[in-house]
This record gives sequence, C-alpha cells and structure tokens, in this order.
Amino acid sequence: MASSDVVWHAAEVSKQSRAALKQQRPCIIWFTGLSGSGKSTIANALEEHLAAAGQHTYLLDGDNVRHGLNQDLGFTDEDRVENIRRVGEVAALFVDAGLIVIAAFISPFRSERELVRNLVDSDEFIEVYMSTPLATCEERDPKGLYGRARAGLIRNFTGIDSAYQPPETADLVLDTSSDDVQSCVSRLLTVLTERGILPPAAGISQS
Ligand code: ADP
Repeated sequence: MASSDVVWHAAEVSKQSRAALKQQRPCIIWFTGLSGSGKSTIANALEEHLAAAGQHTYLLDGDNVRHGLNQDLGFTDEDRVENIRRVGEVAALFVDAGLIVIAAFISPFRSERELVRNLVDSDEFIEVYMSTPLATCEERDPKGLYGRARAGLIRNFTGIDSAYQPPETADLVLDTSSDDVQSCVSRLLTVLTERGILPPAAGISQS
C-alpha cells in the first residue's frame, strides 16, 4: 500500500503526446494459455512482424521476467498473482510510454488478467487465449516441464496440479495444434487492424 505521504506527480508530457511522437496507438496484447501452448512463439513472431512494419514494441515474457524483476517469486497461487500484478504495472507503464506491449504469461487466473485489464483504458487491452489442448502441450513439452511435473518433481504446475481458468471473452482464440505460426500472426494482425491499433494502410505484408 502506498504511503499517504507519497503524492502522485502529474507529468507535463502526456501519454497522448508520447504516442503521437511514435505515430502509433499503444496497447497491451496479452497472451494467456498453458505452458507449451505457443505463447512465446506466436508473441515473438508477432513482434518481428510489427517491428518490421515500423511499430515500437516491447515483449514481456514470463520466463524472462522471472530471471529479473520477479526472481523472488515462485509458483504458489499467491506468488502467481504478485507475478502478474507486477508485470501488469510494467506493461501499463510501457503503454504510458507509447509502446505496443506484447505479454506472454500463463496467467491462469481470470481475476489477475482482469486486474491487468483494469490498469489501462478498455480499448488498450487485447486478450489472446492460446487454447491449444493440454495433450498437445504435454506432447510438445518443449522445456521438459510436463514430464517433471507428472513425475512429481515440480509442484503447482498449471494444467497438472494447478488450475487454469480459460478466458470467457477473449478478443482472439488461437489453437496452435491446428493453426500454424503464420496463420496465427495473420489473425492477430486482422484483429489489431479491426481494433484500430494498426492502420488499414499499414500494408503489413503477411508473408
Ligand atoms: P509457451 O510460451 O506457451 O510456453 P512456447 O512458444 O514456448 O509456448 O512453446 C510452444 C512449442 O510448440 C514450441 O516448441 C514451438 O516450436 C511448438 N509449436 C509447434 N507448432 C506450433 C504453432 N503452430 N504455433 C506455436 N508453437 C508451435
């Protein structure tokens, strides 16, 4: 809780002016889904595309954040909520800085995703649910984590012994067991254009 002695200092340079300098509409594109569902892969592919089109982006990735800012946090429900709270605050600051933030976090609980959504304007949060089935994620097991979780070597693993609450009103649902990377990126670009984040004339090639 902030001390009542700490007073918010209004900045002279506004979010709008920073965004205008970058000639873009800042937002958070929030990927949620099971480990191995393709969040990082698709988030990276999307960022590559946007950067090539001249958009100023920043990718926040769950694993990377846990090496620094959140290295003191584990995977209990309490720590997971704190993990997402901090990441949400960082993402909101980056939106304030004028960036298009791409966030890839399992973020299993509806309430924590709601918390992040409420940190920015309603049209600045785009929720992307990676609905790739658990069986596919487990079969891929790109980091060997499911194997270790099934063997009881990792506790509180989402989908195994920790809950995942799917979004009820995601802006986009992607299932990477049936959609390849390119088609996922294309569908994302369509949503971003429809939402006015990308100008129709951006001419973003979908190759
Ligand atoms: P997450 O970030 O959700 O844990 P990752 O992106 O790290 O997931 O891992 C997804 C794995 O699935 C990667 O090894 C990736 O190469 C593989 N994969 C196979 N097909 C796809 C696809 N269509 N989209 C995304 N990832 C895919």
